[in-house]
Amino acid sequence: GREITERKRYQDALEKASREKTAFISTISHELRTPLNGIVGLSRMLLESNLDDKQRNYLRTIYVSAITLGNIFNDIIDLDKSDRKRLSLHPTSVDFNEFVTEIDNISELMAEQKGLRFELERVTELPDYVAVDTTRLRQILWNLVGNAVKFTKQGCVIVTVSADVTGDHADLCFEVEDSGIGIPADEQDKIFAMYYQVKQAGENLHAVGTGIGLAVSRKLARLMGGDITLDSEEGEGSTFTVTLRVPLSEPGEAETP
Ligand code: ADP
Repeated sequence: GREITERKRYQDALEKASREKTAFISTISHELRTPLNGIVGLSRMLLESNLDDKQRNYLRTIYVSAITLGNIFNDIIDLDKSDRKRLSLHPTSVDFNEFVTEIDNISELMAEQKGLRFELERVTELPDYVAVDTTRLRQILWNLVGNAVKFTKQGCVIVTVSADVTGDHADLCFEVEDSGIGIPADEQDKIFAMYYQVKQAGENLHAVGTGIGLAVSRKLARLMGGDITLDSEEGEGSTFTVTLRVPLSEPGEAETP
């Protein structure tokens, strides 16, 4: 009798704490996003104005930092949701070439910050409009490009995009390749686990970051009917491949269920 009551009380308290944590995360991230959107939007506008090199450099750092921060918010929110199996997608009809150009521009800024060469190649013709949750897809790609830049000291980051259109859908493929430190073979599965970071000898690169980006990104990719795979050689570099199957759509088509 008494033991069961105790346990019930304990369980209720736990559930209440968990609900409060979720409400807290969601309120905070919402509150933070509004000013963050201001920083992202206005620095993007300013980047198009006349600036000297030094000013442009500073502004680029502000812009990329704000985008990275937003991505971390998204990862944290999704992490919390995925615990509770509430992760859901909101696909809308998007101009896919425009989306790829945006990825190109932002990735280039990220790479330039570290003096890395960046290239985005469209290796096939791409569909005009697809139904996809762009917030989530951006989140995946920025995690991968952000990592590629973070774990590469010199050389390049290359993104390739291709599509295979059949019937009413397209199989999209994004490859993010870097000439960075690479990932040891026995770590390649582990890095997709929550909070996992490869221990780097010497440099403290692993201290920068959360270890949740890849775990969340893989969950999102699988939710989108795809996956993320990895091909890497220690000391040579890494290639992360995202595959997704998305419906073709028309401009302005409303949200698909
Ligand atoms: P974070 O980057 O915040 O540490 P992630 O989940 O994105 O977390 O990545 C987990 C770990 O996988 C990283 O800490 C790093 O050890 C390794 N990793 C990810 N991407 C790369 C890459 N492109 N090159 C080398 N190591 C990588």
